[in-house]
Amino acid sequence: MSYKPNQKVSELKPYDAIKGDYAIRLDANESFIEIPEDTKKEMVDTIAELALNRYPDPRAKSACDAFASYYGVDPDCVTAYNGSDELLFLINTCLLMKGENAVFVSPDFSMYRFYAELAEAQVTVVEKNSDGLFCADDIIKAVNETGARLLIFSNPCNPIGTGIKREEVIKIVEGCADCLVAVDEAYMEFWDQSVMDKVCDYDNLMVLKTCSKAFRMAGIRCGFCVANKKLSDILLAVKSPYNVNSMTQAAATAILSHPEQLDAAIEHIKKSCRDLTEELLDLARQFPEKMTVRKTCTNFAYIEMPDGTAQRMYKALKREGIIVRCFGSFLRVTAGSPEENAEFIRAFENNLF
Ligand SMILES: *Cc1c(COP(=O)(O)O)cnc(C)c1O
Repeated sequence: MSYKPNQKVSELKPYDAIKGDYAIRLDANESFIEIPEDTKKEMVDTIAELALNRYPDPRAKSACDAFASYYGVDPDCVTAYNGSDELLFLINTCLLMKGENAVFVSPDFSMYRFYAELAEAQVTVVEKNSDGLFCADDIIKAVNETGARLLIFSNPCNPIGTGIKREEVIKIVEGCADCLVAVDEAYMEFWDQSVMDKVCDYDNLMVLKTCSKAFRMAGIRCGFCVANKKLSDILLAVKSPYNVNSMTQAAATAILSHPEQLDAAIEHIKKSCRDLTEELLDLARQFPEKMTVRKTCTNFAYIEMPDGTAQRMYKALKREGIIVRCFGSFLRVTAGSPEENAEFIRAFENNLF
């Protein structure tokens, strides 16, 4: 018995989603709306007809075409993944070489840094200002000073819900010409500053998309990359050949082929988030010493709380069967159904004292 896993992986712990049975789950930014019955049936019918003894289409063409058609982009610029998490893994481990520099911002989605470190890259982190924003010049400086080869950030941002204007993003792309800029637009359906239409104008821009949030397919595992042909071909070459299974391809094709249903669901989620935020802003006006609430560009609310009270609130809500996410000094609360939001607000207000 002498095998020892290498030191970069031997201390890692498995990713633990919050476990347990909670009546109200507002922790993972999923959609609270289910897929409509007729579309679900269409999905199940197409899956029933699949030859599951055969390998899937390695290019997931039907799903990529449906995605491209929804967004009005060139299907040749779209590639599909087993969730955008797979895409993040590929970008970090294949497009970065050991010892190369990557730049991230903070706070931001934690997986970027995790995968870059697995790839043995050098990581530089640019801290956001107190409004949760960063300016293009600071990023450009950090990228050019370190000779970074990769910059990834989410826009709008998970976990704080802030957004960077499209012009700023473009300025970054242009100012970091030797660096790949991967903009994770997981929440852009809830805002309007996408740079997806710009991918063919630059050789260093990628837009990352997930179907897990606005498109309510978290359980189906499907994500896409939108990039110029050259970058798309590289991703096709490095990904495992059959990364997206036939059932996911069929399900995503069916769901993405109903733009009117997608748009309606997005409007519904946006309204829920506005309503939830209004209620929280109301509480913040009443009890300014207890909480600060910022409007977000996403499907979740952001609540900052002083000295350990966010953690205390998180635990109190959890005891009542309501699960949210706590990040040190703030809570991130996914917009739920009107009933879930009301239940959350009631419990939150009760536990403020
Ligand atoms: C949820 C999320 C993802 C992961 O999406 P999957 O497609 O479910 O893997 C990626 N990026 C951000 C910013 C997210 O919030």
